[in-house]
Amino acid sequence: MRLLVVEDDPDLNRQLTTALTDAGYVVDRAFDGEEGHFLGESEPYDAVILDIGLPKMDGITVLEAWRRTGRTMPVLILTARDRWSDKVQGFDAGADDYVAKPFHLEEVLARIRALVRRSAGHAKSEFTCGSVRLDTRTGRVSVDGTPVKLTSHEYRLLSYLMHHNGRVVSRTELVEHLYDQDFDRDSNTIEVFVGRIRKKLGIDVIQTVRGLGYLLTPPADAR
Ligand code: CA
Repeated sequence: MRLLVVEDDPDLNRQLTTALTDAGYVVDRAFDGEEGHFLGESEPYDAVILDIGLPKMDGITVLEAWRRTGRTMPVLILTARDRWSDKVQGFDAGADDYVAKPFHLEEVLARIRALVRRSAGHAKSEFTCGSVRLDTRTGRVSVDGTPVKLTSHEYRLLSYLMHHNGRVVSRTELVEHLYDQDFDRDSNTIEVFVGRIRKKLGIDVIQTVRGLGYLLTPPADAR
């Protein structure tokens, strides 16, 4: 899952980015409204954290511009405490949720988890496919109840497929959602990671759909 953080306060931007990265997301960051607007317009994000008070272009204007051009990614706005008008303006501009400053990082993480799974059409924070279980709250993966240790990159890949199970996910889509903008993107590496995940899980839930991508399906005997 790939996120964008738009926050001009360098400390807060760093805290958010660190917490989200530790939680297994890939994070791009912007420090003013123009840069944030450009990234949100050109890159596919699974969710965005957007401050309202930003230099160059305020958060509400950024959000309105995204929605006007059909960008539908979930957006969590950061509002000043006691500014109820920020919240109303934010929702009217197309925000999906808000957190008032100062906030607890845990709350932001929980809200992002909810936004990401809701926008992928899921109500629960735990995903299963056959005997494979992935818990987005703890970042743990298990097969038949036995924990499986995945690297953060492998976890991100499996988590993305879990969020989008039931449909074929292309390599290009995976590359776009698993790497940040500075990463040297090579879709062949996706195949290597899928191979490693298959090996670690020990059961084959990731099907290769030739020429199209990958499809997460429970093994035939568990269907
Ligand atoms: Ca600000």
